[in-house]
Amino acid sequence: MIITGTMIHYYFVCEKKLWYFLNGINLEKYDENIKIGTLIDKYSYERENKNLMIDENINIDFIRDWKIIHEIKKSDKLEELFIWQVKYYIYILRKYGVNIESGLLDYPKQKKRTKVFLDEEDEEKLENVFKEIEKIKNQKNIPIVKYKNYCKKCAYYEFCYI
Ligand code: SF4
Repeated sequence: MIITGTMIHYYFVCEKKLWYFLNGINLEKYDENIKIGTLIDKYSYERENKNLMIDENINIDFIRDWKIIHEIKKSDKLEELFIWQVKYYIYILRKYGVNIESGLLDYPKQKKRTKVFLDEEDEEKLENVFKEIEKIKNQKNIPIVKYKNYCKKCAYYEFCYI
């Protein structure tokens, strides 16, 4: 199974949401579809590459000099998730041979920045996450999860609670 950015995102948000998605219930749409190979060929010589789509589902805000991934966020409420999202981007781009050094989470409203690095331990954790995602896909029953404070904003809310 090919692990996508959306799966990683959902894994850190909610296993139930991930299960829906893996079982063909996709309620969130994406509007671009550019593969990494095409992307690297097309943009290799530009300094700042904005709104990049990778593997159909990863949408990176911009990469400076092909070294630092920048993600701009409204609030740091879900920072743990954002950090893992950026770690995943670094991981996948390195796999494609792009030597990304680090990531930067920008919260302009809060005037806050968080640096993100990917070390060997993180790589192992991500590889375990890939295995967990496979397990969730093969699980017959919908995972039971507790109500979260962002459930009401979730596209799957009606599936869970109504
Ligand atoms: S509504 Fe809440 S429990 Fe249901 S899929 Fe969304 S985040 Fe998960």
